[in-house]
Amino acid sequence: MLRYTSYDIVFQEIPGEVTLAVNLSGCPHRCPGCHSPWLWQDTGEPLNEESLGLLLDQYGEAVSCVCFMGGDADPEAVARLAAFARHRSAHTLKTGWYSGNSQPPPVSLLRHFNYLKTGPYIEQLGGLTSPTTNQRFYAVENGRLTDRTHLFRRISL
Ligand code: SF4
Repeated sequence: MLRYTSYDIVFQEIPGEVTLAVNLSGCPHRCPGCHSPWLWQDTGEPLNEESLGLLLDQYGEAVSCVCFMGGDADPEAVARLAAFARHRSAHTLKTGWYSGNSQPPPVSLLRHFNYLKTGPYIEQLGGLTSPTTNQRFYAVENGRLTDRTHLFRRISL
């Protein structure tokens, strides 16, 4: 089961979108130097169709995107909730996933997202704003990936 510890409205995680970011716990990656080690534990409230629906109702059209931050222990559940969020907004709400996996998920899951960030945090390489980062940020269209990591380098200037 997915659980979330917090949520926030963010502007930089998905460039060009006003994003409801939902922080999922139970992260399996254990990156040294992790910015949020409290997300390693399986804590927080269950995130399912009911609780996500309440969060989306709370913000309505004030957000253009919902982004799942984590959830790599159950990729199918993340994709299922992304499909749910899109369906209930008649596809006007975009969906993103910040995954710590180095490889994208299979197309059967990827097709439910508009944006995908991949890669664990490696301290010496830095996050998305670092020119040496191992992480990648993609726009997703019909399951195809276009690398848009460069958008974060501009943000950092
Ligand atoms: S993927 Fe993110 S939350 Fe998980 S351990 Fe790495 S930095 Fe921390």
